[in-house]
Amino acid sequence: MRWSYTIGRFAGTDVKVHVTFMLLVVWLAYYQYQRAGTAAAVEYTIFFLLFFLCIVLHEFGHIRMASRFGVRTPDVILLPIGGVARLERIPEEPRQELLIALAGPAVTLAIIVLLFLAAVGTGQDVLVSDPLAGNVSLVVQLLVSNVLVLVFNLFPAFPLDGGRVLRSLLARKMGLAKATRIAGSIGQIFAVVLGIVGVMLQAPLMMLVAFFIFLGAGSEASAVATRMAGRGLQVAQMMVTDFRTIPVHATLSQAVDLLLSGEQREFPVVDNLGRTEGILTRDNLIRGLSRHGPESTVAQAMTPAAPTVTPTLSFQEALERLRSSGLPALPVGDAGGSLVGMRTLDNNTDQLLVQRARG
Ligand SMILES: [Zn+2]
Repeated sequence: MRWSYTIGRFAGTDVKVHVTFMLLVVWLAYYQYQRAGTAAAVEYTIFFLLFFLCIVLHEFGHIRMASRFGVRTPDVILLPIGGVARLERIPEEPRQELLIALAGPAVTLAIIVLLFLAAVGTGQDVLVSDPLAGNVSLVVQLLVSNVLVLVFNLFPAFPLDGGRVLRSLLARKMGLAKATRIAGSIGQIFAVVLGIVGVMLQAPLMMLVAFFIFLGAGSEASAVATRMAGRGLQVAQMMVTDFRTIPVHATLSQAVDLLLSGEQREFPVVDNLGRTEGILTRDNLIRGLSRHGPESTVAQAMTPAAPTVTPTLSFQEALERLRSSGLPALPVGDAGGSLVGMRTLDNNTDQLLVQRARG
């Protein structure tokens, strides 16, 4: 995701912070400072950061469980609405998804138990009406917030954890595609209701959360539809075969001519012997132009060593490689290493539309 910064790496997962999250921390601290002075601002910031630490721990519950099933998590991003762990894929096995979905809330529950014991052990009242009032201790504030996180996450609304639990239970009976459609629809209905309540209560955060749930539910449903449509297909059946390449020693101004002369936006970069050296995307080209100028070479601007896929690779595998590469296209090379096609995201969309029209 753009505008996010890595603050650390734990067990193979980058922990990233989105710039909107940092702005939220600063804004809340400033708001508290104006309202109640420096001490209150510091106190509130500490609470907020510890609260987000609890959220990161929750996400690592999902991440650790996913890694047990061989699913890696390249990164987890902190957004103003919480943490989002980006799993490489969703396991096909409904039982595995169930366990991954439950692992996060299990961590939150463990945190709640510990905080509860700490609060009760020190003789504090845990039944507070306003957890953010000045006289409530940090432990109780964190306790109440984590209870809210737990309850909220267990709503059976996709893509919240509860929605994932619901999907995995439905998937046992009716398969992943239908289960995702149903769970996705429930998630979107929930998001709309939450959004309306947010407007009525004039609660901007609630509206924001509703918006993200709506988007998440939709994108997950379409990701699963993609996977289902591609079942049994190989790269050779759905690659672009009519395309142009660009020599590695060509200048960027030649690349611009090529870009503007047609619809193709990504060009495999080849050496004199026709071997693939990398890929030149439109972004590569624009960035190269502004950094090195039009007379610099394609070699200076391209993404070198773009992963190559083979024609016999499965559709899903190729799609996952394409997604994890972060590139809009990958070259397809046969066993001998010669370039035979391109696998692009646009082509993917076209293919799916065709599949759907055919029923
Ligand atoms: Zn979760």
